[in-house]
Amino acid sequence: MTRKPIPDPIFTLTTGPVDAYPAVLRGLSRPVLYDYDPAFLAFYESVNDKVQRAFRTSTPPVILQGEPVLALEAAAASLIAKGDVVLNLVSGVYGKGFGYWAARHAGEVLELAVPYNEALDADAVAEILRKRPDIAVVSLCHHDTPSGTVNPAAAIGATVRAAGKLLIVDAVSSFGGMDVLPEAVHADIFITGPNKCLGCPPGLSLVHVSGAAWKKMEANPDAPRDSMLSIVDWRRAHEATQPFPFTPSVSEINALDAALDLYLAEGDEAVWARHAHTAAACRAGILAAGLSLWPAREEIASPTCTAVRLPDGLDEAKLRGAIRDRYGVVVSSGRAETLGKLVRIGHMGPTARPIYSLVAVAAVAGGLQGLGVKGIDIGAGVSAAMRIIDTAAG
Ligand SMILES: *Cc1c(COP(=O)(O)O)cnc(C)c1O
Repeated sequence: MTRKPIPDPIFTLTTGPVDAYPAVLRGLSRPVLYDYDPAFLAFYESVNDKVQRAFRTSTPPVILQGEPVLALEAAAASLIAKGDVVLNLVSGVYGKGFGYWAARHAGEVLELAVPYNEALDADAVAEILRKRPDIAVVSLCHHDTPSGTVNPAAAIGATVRAAGKLLIVDAVSSFGGMDVLPEAVHADIFITGPNKCLGCPPGLSLVHVSGAAWKKMEANPDAPRDSMLSIVDWRRAHEATQPFPFTPSVSEINALDAALDLYLAEGDEAVWARHAHTAAACRAGILAAGLSLWPAREEIASPTCTAVRLPDGLDEAKLRGAIRDRYGVVVSSGRAETLGKLVRIGHMGPTARPIYSLVAVAAVAGGLQGLGVKGIDIGAGVSAAMRIIDTAAG
């Protein structure tokens, strides 16, 4: 049976995987070198160097050869020693999910949770650390993407560091799109991926590890070794003279190199500013169109993802289908607890350019109006977004 081909969308405005930069696609088309070719060994070292420059860290990173869930699982398996008490901070689906990985290795997992449209608070973390001095590791999802909300990572990190505990930070959908740097947030393990704000295809994890975390992982007999989940095995792989534990994803490294060149040439603060600008225009447009945001307060709304609260009872899958069929625009759904309650517009990498907010606002508002939702004003939404775009454009 032959199926009718489904045309590609015109705009992929998702929260990951995201549309890739054209230069990244050109990077993917570079030759696939043998991993022990001297040219590849030198290249691999130089890509690690660029990751380190993007991270602004004092020590080299680790690149793991699988999308960021690999590094999250690896961090749980490596840093959490048998019997450890772990404090898992939860403001959404990814934060909650990390607790399940932590529970495979920990003696006990404590959870500090807020509603999934809210953000965590450093004082509450300090209080629980005072009450439970036996906590060894704290885990935080900085930007819980299925909620589109951002947690105060620097304040929480300072609190955790002051208490002498180790911190794992999931910055998968925030690094590269906003000001979140591994050492600035006092992360002992900091995890991100190229497939969100760096505008690459999925397939790698970028990891920063602190000195204290290396020490603990290397002393942990249960930390994975000779395994896809091993962080320790890759510690020195960035050195051109060192062997790879197994074959690196050559093409993904080619793509990452191209993405890092773009990021470093533009300058991180300029990249973060265009993410923030795009999101600000999008939020203004969504609100002016008569819709509401999922985050409880605009201050905690992510600059890389705008989560739009849907009217009760609306069929979310039907809405996204209508938006795609009618306009060729793809947006993301919620996940788990937020599934069906919101849609998400990504501002990540190549789509973190203000003009895309007009497409997103018009498509989401138009889709809702098409499904018979009353009180939508597409023109007001587009005008409000345009005002924000023009304000900063001068
Ligand atoms: C995308 C993402 C991940 C990685 O998960 P995927 O399988 O790529 O969806 C992990 N954490 C967060 C917060 C993310 O946004």
